[in-house]
Amino acid sequence: MTAEIIDGKAFAAGLRARVGDVAAAFEAAAGRKAGLAVVLVGEDPASAVYVRSKGKATLAANMASFEHKLPADTDQATLIALVDRLNADGKVDGILVQLPLPKHLDEQAVLLRISPDKDVDGFHPVNAGRLATGMPGFVPCTPLGCLMLLKDQLGDLSGKEAVVIGRSNIVGKPMAALLTAASCTVTLAHSRTRDLPGHVSRADIVVAAVGRAGFVKGEWLKPGATVIDVGINRVDGALTGDVEFDSAASVAGAITPVPGGVGPMTIACLLRNTLVAAHRNAGIALDEAAL
Ligand code: NAD
Repeated sequence: MTAEIIDGKAFAAGLRARVGDVAAAFEAAAGRKAGLAVVLVGEDPASAVYVRSKGKATLAANMASFEHKLPADTDQATLIALVDRLNADGKVDGILVQLPLPKHLDEQAVLLRISPDKDVDGFHPVNAGRLATGMPGFVPCTPLGCLMLLKDQLGDLSGKEAVVIGRSNIVGKPMAALLTAASCTVTLAHSRTRDLPGHVSRADIVVAAVGRAGFVKGEWLKPGATVIDVGINRVDGALTGDVEFDSAASVAGAITPVPGGVGPMTIACLLRNTLVAAHRNAGIALDEAAL
């Protein structure tokens, strides 16, 4: 193996500590804690685990956590009414509705109802538009975490060739927008892309967000490339990424492991976005780029 391992777990711990310090200063200045409301509908066990760990991380970062657990048969009007109350609540800076929602609920209508200025997940189309046009808003947590790891690893990204594999609204598309804003030359590849290995072979930066275990092969990579593996796949009970780790690590310059790479960055960036929202909502200045 030649690649340096990018330690997302350590980077995320550092970010969470910084957020915790700034959150304490926010409380002293604003006279209240920054607050994150998380809404969980139903009893999906994986979602319940995510919600619990987000709540714990929020408290550990000196912020207030408001958990709203609704029964699986909650109707659309009740959920919308809760979102409206949270939008109007001055103690709530960020609102996160845990997905997926039960099938009978209209997910898109719920996400559209969240105030874009409390949309710390960055899923509202207003925030997608802000990202696309370079206006301040909220960027989805996973691609934001990937960008932080890339900047930490490579410094200035300008002029680099980047290939993003996957075009979902929560990872691939915002990742491509962030890399474009960072002055990379970006190729957004997807299931209809012809000659994916050919595209990947030219890339200084590869971000894989496909959802298929071991999909990206080491032999596709340009020697020395930086590889960010977003994939979380369960194979025989173990978590594995979208990149074939052993073959990739013998060619890449640096690579994120799964687990311990991108995964821990997502919650850390959620806390970061909530703290940014709190400062904006309270009109308190913050050097957002330094966080
Ligand atoms: P998605 O299913 O919404 O999108 C997958 C994308 O992969 C699609 O755009 C599709 O075009 C592309 N794709 C599928 N087959 C392909 C092929 N043969 N060649 C090229 N592209 C192909 O998935 P998502 O929500 O973007 O998530 C992707 C992966 O990232 C999943 O494994 C998911 O679990 C993981 N994920 C991790 C985190 C985290 O915190 N680390 C967060 C979100 C998603």
